[in-house]
Amino acid sequence: MNIENKLKISQKAFNTWKTVPFKDKQQLLKTLAKLLDDNAEKFGKIITKEMNKPITQSIAEVKKCASMVRYYAAAENILKPEKIKTEFRVSKIHYIPKGVILGVMPWNFPFWQVIRFAVPAILAGNTVVLKHASICFGSGNEIEKIFLEAGFPKGVFQNLEIGHAEVKMVLENPIVRGVSLTGSEKAGGEVASIAGKNIKKSLLELGGSDAFIILDDADFKAAANSGAKSRLMNCGQACNAAKRFIIQKNIEKEFLPIFVKEYQKFVAGNPLKKKTNMAGMARPDLADELEQQYNKALANGAEIILPLVRLSANEFIPGLIKVKSGNPILQEELFGPLGMVMIAKDDQQAVNLANEIPFGLSDSVWTKDKKRQQFYIDNLESGTVSINKGTSSDPRLPFGGTKSSGYGTELSLVALKEFVNVRTVVGN
Ligand code: NDP
Repeated sequence: MNIENKLKISQKAFNTWKTVPFKDKQQLLKTLAKLLDDNAEKFGKIITKEMNKPITQSIAEVKKCASMVRYYAAAENILKPEKIKTEFRVSKIHYIPKGVILGVMPWNFPFWQVIRFAVPAILAGNTVVLKHASICFGSGNEIEKIFLEAGFPKGVFQNLEIGHAEVKMVLENPIVRGVSLTGSEKAGGEVASIAGKNIKKSLLELGGSDAFIILDDADFKAAANSGAKSRLMNCGQACNAAKRFIIQKNIEKEFLPIFVKEYQKFVAGNPLKKKTNMAGMARPDLADELEQQYNKALANGAEIILPLVRLSANEFIPGLIKVKSGNPILQEELFGPLGMVMIAKDDQQAVNLANEIPFGLSDSVWTKDKKRQQFYIDNLESGTVSINKGTSSDPRLPFGGTKSSGYGTELSLVALKEFVNVRTVVGN
């Protein structure tokens, strides 16, 4: 079926879907959550085959989707009309769904990224068309199938199976009223400029180079364990992975060996085996890019703590480098198994280092001292500050970036208002 026809189906579905009561939409979400749970193994295998994620992490991704869908299935309806006190007989705010929303989604979490964007948009009364990453059309098709199986009307969720060159044409189509993109800054900038030119809403969830700050009163073992996981899960291919480990100078000698030990527990293996904790990157070209970035960092003065060793087209022994402020690599996102260590003499310098990058997604700080925690909460520039825990998105809490990490909010009740128009109703 051609794209124009699919968009027409989506528009037609929107005209009735927007009138379905919130509670009834939530009933369908309950079924969707069950289908995700019941098929976690099957979908997990598809994810692993498409982008190499270790199977246990793929299954966990699908289960996390189910828990997110359950969260929205039980969520408070914050889209009910709101009364405002004025001198008029009637004054109210109505939240009106925008219509057909396009999702441009990446390959790193082929189910999670799609469901995270689509479910709040759909619960708010919109319909969704998906342009998935070119290596993840299988995941996109399975997601379309389970929406139908859960009882959502035809056209509420459709997978388009198009390449990125066709996104412009879809987004320019008057039927499409907004776009949500998760991916690189380059793709985000290009898609948002098309949306802007056509006066359509956009939401961008882009890259990050998150700081993971370890201070001298931290629980070293817990921080080392969480930091290594945060950098190396999914072979380092997560926007909110810890990418820069900022260590207080007076604990460098004690902390670093503990961290290195945890780091070396991640070993590339067969992604379909349950004991594998790391596998190859999603595509060989992404591995080439990581290697180039490694060489660029070294050419600009970075020191090797653990060398990044290429084992095959897409597999590595994870690398760890010590980087100083001013190294141009700090302007880039390292989307793979390569971590950066930076040393800060005190809290002020740690904050300065954490903030001196183009991104601002989700920093993590390890200290037991409440005053110091507050200092970081007040001064870090990221969308999330995690205290004594690694960053991971939680359906109940908002997720989004600042600076070049993007704009707009995903997850939580806040996401329900991203693709609605606010209508004022006022008079006597
Ligand atoms: P991209 O940003 O290129 O891909 C993400 C999605 O955007 C895909 O669906 C892709 O389609 C689409 N896309 C790409 N370019 C355009 C465009 N000009 N117009 C419309 N849609 C577009 O990521 P890559 O796969 O190339 O990865 C490159 C880097 O991006 C990574 O190394 C990482 O730094 C960052 N990234 C960040 C992610 C995050 O979670 N924030 C996720 C993935 C990547 P298609 O597959 O057809 O090209």
